[in-house]
Amino acid sequence: AKHEGRSVFRIYNDDMGRANIDKFNLMTQIRQALKDKQFRLFYQPKIDISNGRVCGVEALIRWPQEDGSYITPDEFIPLAESSGVIADIGHWVLQEACAACMRWRKQGHSNVGVAVNLSYVQFRDGLLERNVQHVLRQSGLPATALELELTESMLIGEGDDISRQLDGIYTMGVSFAIDDFGTGYSNLGYLRRFKASRLKIDKSFITGLGVSQRDEPLVRAIIQMAASLGLQSVAEGVEDEATLRLLKQLGCDEAQGYFWSQALPEHELTEWLNTHNS
Ligand code: C2E
Ligand code: CA
Ligand code: CA
Ligand code: CA
Repeated sequence: AKHEGRSVFRIYNDDMGRANIDKFNLMTQIRQALKDKQFRLFYQPKIDISNGRVCGVEALIRWPQEDGSYITPDEFIPLAESSGVIADIGHWVLQEACAACMRWRKQGHSNVGVAVNLSYVQFRDGLLERNVQHVLRQSGLPATALELELTESMLIGEGDDISRQLDGIYTMGVSFAIDDFGTGYSNLGYLRRFKASRLKIDKSFITGLGVSQRDEPLVRAIIQMAASLGLQSVAEGVEDEATLRLLKQLGCDEAQGYFWSQALPEHELTEWLNTHNS
């Protein structure tokens, strides 16, 4: 198993394989973890390719285990979604991210905004608009410093209800990014309706740049499409300088990835900003 955590999750994972994970136990642990404030938010810098400067950070949730390992979000978010507890986790993430961003801005990094990943479940209770408003007010963060990341699947066939919530949040001044672009659906109709500012090219395409002959024309086409729709293009998962150079050639606007930094805890990101954002 990837995780050395002393959790029920791992025991079942080892003994019986993935398909037999004791989901009930893991769900109970997730709820408990939220109550016990075990979750942490890490932050990965986002870079403006044209000038190499930091333009913001993306908040990424972490679940540390007692032995120092982490259960990754890809492993617990889907379960947190199916049990509905993601609504509370998501609210905590929003509060924490806005508060941290406000602290950086007060420390002189006034150009830094924060991007937060949303789950489709957060639209269900119809409270998202109110929650966002509340969190902005509570933290003092300007709405324009907050970006919400949504995946394509959340925007496909999205009902009037979700549209209305998104419109309301957009009207406050919050911006939206389409996450994992290219991995969801071939139906691009939602791009006509949805008022996004950024299109994040999934890292599976970026990793292939320079390796697969096919990824370059694909990434080029996505960047051009974004530009013609008036969207900023963002490359995820940039790990080396050659990839960055190619993306710059292709006209990509922003990037994030291990080439600059992995996601870091708040105080480490503060240090990173102090050395890279002055
Ligand atoms: P995502 O939003 O697409 O986030 C990008 C993922 O790529 C992150 O994984 C990040 O750590 C990783 N990454 C960044 N740069 C590189 C790189 O250069 N190379 C490689 N190989 N990977 C890189 P992470 O943090 O494990 O998150 C996985 C997914 O979990 C996220 O994908 C997002 O969909 C979800 N997630 C994370 N935090 C939250 C959250 O607070 N709420 C919700 N609803 N979902 C979250
Ligand atoms: Ca994301
Ligand atoms: Ca992504
Ligand atoms: Ca993803």
